[in-house]
Amino acid sequence: MLNPFEKLQIPPKANYTIDTMLKRLPKIGGTTVRDREIRRLKEYYERIKKYHDFVVQFPRIDELHPFYLEATRIVTDIDKLRICLSVTKKASTISMKILKEYINQIRKSPENEANRIMRQAFGRVSSILRKSSECIDKVIDVAKELKKIQGIDPILPTIVVAGPPNVGKSTLVSKISTAKPEIASYPFTTKEVHVGHVILDDFRIQIIDTPGILDRPEIERNNIERKATNAIRNLNGIIIFMFDSSISSILSVESQIELFREVKLLKKVIIPVINKIDEKDDEYYKKIVDFLSKEGSKWYEISAEKGIGLDKLKEELFSLIKSSGTNEVSRN
Ligand code: GDP
Repeated sequence: MLNPFEKLQIPPKANYTIDTMLKRLPKIGGTTVRDREIRRLKEYYERIKKYHDFVVQFPRIDELHPFYLEATRIVTDIDKLRICLSVTKKASTISMKILKEYINQIRKSPENEANRIMRQAFGRVSSILRKSSECIDKVIDVAKELKKIQGIDPILPTIVVAGPPNVGKSTLVSKISTAKPEIASYPFTTKEVHVGHVILDDFRIQIIDTPGILDRPEIERNNIERKATNAIRNLNGIIIFMFDSSISSILSVESQIELFREVKLLKKVIIPVINKIDEKDDEYYKKIVDFLSKEGSKWYEISAEKGIGLDKLKEELFSLIKSSGTNEVSRN
């Protein structure tokens, strides 16, 4: 199951449709005046139908996977979205009905009435569209934002890579992925999410990093990032938490530990990994190891960049994912 918004056809904003239709009118001709006015309304009908198709095809909120439901919450208030979907549907249904009625009226009326009837229809429909434009545009904005989360499949078993900025998350994703990771983006973050896949013994596993989401203490996260964290929690899988053992670490060891504790609160299986072992600072390294020993956690030591310790880590990850229940692992 990929992003349910991915294939959604998004129409232009409401006022843009009215304006372009106004500009189009003089360019639409016909064999007779009647024919011309009917063609004009038919073209408007086709444009309005795009809004109708759009809401009909909009994924049903009640059927969204929790990951995408959380992502939708990042972008909008769900109740407001429901209202706006219904407003858009109503506005487009009524407008299409009106246009059909007026087209019939033109057919039945004297030729010299055709232009007046067309203008009347045009005015009524544009006014409906204008009145609903705030809502229509809202649904369009929501769809545009949600379409951005390409490539994240919430059903696939997933390894989420968390840890401080610059620790080597995206390096690890690219090193363990079978092919070059795809780039996805998350609503309202400018950061790119790397989505890789590992195909192993017929199983497909998804591996993603989490820039700007699980890399700072809770207190520093804004509302959107908190919701994003919630969405990540709804992915089906385990988390790798990377510690930076090098002197160039952006966060102090204490802050990294604090962040690890917060990620633990997500109640997912967490594998601690100490990265940059090739450039480790003895004091940092010792502090991290002391903490993990006290925690009773089993950890892995790697250099994502130099490829040290990756085979062992991969073995452990895959056996963990496989043993976490066959229903959670999808066959290729
Ligand atoms: P992210 O922000 O956590 O995704 O970190 P990146 O994967 O972009 O890596 C940040 C920097 O750390 C880059 O310059 C990498 O080349 C470097 N880096 C990543 N892994 C290692 C490692 O194992 N050892 C060393 N020395 N540098 C690494």
